[in-house]
Amino acid sequence: MRCRRCGDKAEIYLKRHNAAFCNDCFQVYYSEQVRKNIRREKMFGSKDRVLVVVSGGKDSMALWHKLLKEGYDVTAMYINLGIGDYSDRSQEIVERFSEEYEAPLIVRNIEKDYGFNIPRLAREIRRSTCSLCGTIKRYLFNKVALDGGFDVVATGHNLDDEAATLFGNVLSWQEGYLARQSPVLPSTHPKLVKKVKPLFTLTERENLAYVLFNGISFIHEECPHALGASSILYKEVLNQLEEASPGTKQRFLTNFLKKGRKNFEACSETPDLRECSICGQVTTAEVCSFCRLRQMAEKKKMKADLWAQESENP
Ligand code: SF4
Ligand code: ZN
Repeated sequence: MRCRRCGDKAEIYLKRHNAAFCNDCFQVYYSEQVRKNIRREKMFGSKDRVLVVVSGGKDSMALWHKLLKEGYDVTAMYINLGIGDYSDRSQEIVERFSEEYEAPLIVRNIEKDYGFNIPRLAREIRRSTCSLCGTIKRYLFNKVALDGGFDVVATGHNLDDEAATLFGNVLSWQEGYLARQSPVLPSTHPKLVKKVKPLFTLTERENLAYVLFNGISFIHEECPHALGASSILYKEVLNQLEEASPGTKQRFLTNFLKKGRKNFEACSETPDLRECSICGQVTTAEVCSFCRLRQMAEKKKMKADLWAQESENP
């Protein structure tokens, strides 16, 4: 198969575009997609300070590399979630990249910085690890960006992620979520930083090709808690549809953004925002969910300490 742009031997075939590319022309295609997304969606400009959130996976590593190559003012943030070996290995990958490219990196460690372990706390308070993890990540993305004076937070969400989220929200008619699904979440409060997804038109496979073609290391396995997540099932269903009809995922998402979302705008209530009485971050309650989790973790720890003392001195 020959490259559509230059006629050289092709390295990758993109079924949804019915186009094959050599390594160099794939990089051109990839860059054009990212530039178009940033420009059309008014995500950020060359003077903005961008905090790119990295997990060590292919998508966020591709985004970090691409934004650095494009010359943006980028700092990465890695959050060690305390998910055993998986978190430590992904941190190593991210730190190695930061050294190799002399790219600024902020590391947060939930256990060391905040004194609790996500999987343990989830078991103790009987909540799903992913829901706890999501709350903590959203909080830290905003807090670190705000404290560091960043203009925007960029994440590596790709077309597969966005189509699967949309699919899940449609299946259960989550009207509020549908109203807010967008590659750009603007700031709705002076203490909320804008969030953007520059890779929202690129597939997982294209991000994988990008990191492989550029020799970028990444953690190959998924987080162990992702197993059994409904988003994986939605991705499998969408992959089957894509196989039968290439371009389905892209049409589903882009047509929703162009034509569908506006039908849900009325469902997007602007919540009453205030500042958390403990940490000052934006919340809808007196105390934000992150501070409530910390309080719960402290109580559990105090109980465990008391229990240990009583067992030692019965
Ligand atoms: Fe967090 Fe769940 Fe994602 Fe793992 S799969 S990183 S626990 S949200
Ligand atoms: Zn708080």
